[in-house]
Amino acid sequence: MRARNLALVLGEVGARGALTRAALAEITGLTKTTVSKLVADLIEAGLVLEAGAVRDGERGRPGVAIRISGEHVAAVGLEINVDYLSVRVVDLARTVRLRRTQAVDNRSAQPVDVLARLGDLALQAVDEAVEMGLRVVGGVLAVPGPVDLATGTVHNAPNLGWRDVPVSSLLPMPFPMRVENEANLAALGELWFGRGLSDFLHVSGEIGIGAGLVVRGRLFRGAHGFAGELGHVVVSPDGPACRCGGRGCLEQYAGQDALLAAAGGPVARSNQAQGAPSSEARDDRLEQDDQGVGWVVSRLRAGDEAALRACERAGWALGVALCSAINLADPDAIVLGGIYAPLFPWIGDVVADTLASRLGQMRDGVPPVVVSHLGTEAAALGAAGQVIQRVIADPAAALHP
Ligand SMILES: [Zn+2]
Repeated sequence: MRARNLALVLGEVGARGALTRAALAEITGLTKTTVSKLVADLIEAGLVLEAGAVRDGERGRPGVAIRISGEHVAAVGLEINVDYLSVRVVDLARTVRLRRTQAVDNRSAQPVDVLARLGDLALQAVDEAVEMGLRVVGGVLAVPGPVDLATGTVHNAPNLGWRDVPVSSLLPMPFPMRVENEANLAALGELWFGRGLSDFLHVSGEIGIGAGLVVRGRLFRGAHGFAGELGHVVVSPDGPACRCGGRGCLEQYAGQDALLAAAGGPVARSNQAQGAPSSEARDDRLEQDDQGVGWVVSRLRAGDEAALRACERAGWALGVALCSAINLADPDAIVLGGIYAPLFPWIGDVVADTLASRLGQMRDGVPPVVVSHLGTEAAALGAAGQVIQRVIADPAAALHP
């Protein structure tokens, strides 16, 4: 009962912002005495704090405001992508306290080496968080592929060359860790750290293309957790063969490798030292990445014809695939993230025009196509955000670590 009431009080403070004890009693139906006891426990655990005065409902009596505290409890979000590792430390008030990104070609490295390198990066970040007075209560790792949530095993991450890798057991951390698909976490990152939308489809453009569907503020995972494989939605049934066994999948037109090839760009794999980190603590990956999408952007800025045509084709294909997704799921908006964020000035209108020409007669208005402002950190933020959501949903567990 007490655990449930703690969750009830913390949940309201988390959802509504600053509230007085009296307002909390009114909203939750608990007595003021009970609320005061629960708030005292939450303050002692460092989950909420008293900060300033707030007017108390209709009577307008000022009272002491209770807010989520960002001073003590924190979460770690980790990401393994094809060409970088990243760590984010986020406090309970959802402020990002630490950012670490390492550019490295993970395609040619062994999983055990990738995880060891990520583990070092994460432990350094945790040490720094401790110096800031934060206690890290949990972490989530984003990987580019479907994951068995129960065991923390990555089934298949073709772009990393991983198959049945028991990630959870290879990444020992001094706090509970979970593993989840990058595309799902990027969508949750947009939900908690983005534009404030609650019904949208978030598209993560990478070498593969994943999507996360958020419905009424919740991620839709599908019956088996495989929902959102947008990269394998068929754009043209007679198109080029895809690694999934099908033909003409979106990935063959709008994935990073397909886009680079169409633009006449370098093949990323042959241009980087195998498995060696090319820089430390780099946070502006896309700006500096002269092999991947950064190369395309520089060609687009120079007005290169091949790059412009490649973008047009990718945007058209993305629009065609999204028409199917919109007809099925009816989202409020399409958020383009990953490589589509830096490409948005060249790709956004093509996608929107394709939607308008194919959906315009069916529907009363086509969902707007917008760019993610989170860049490459969407998945790591979503990962940390998931831990925070769990603490708020079950504060009793954080009270007695
Ligand atoms: Zn495919």
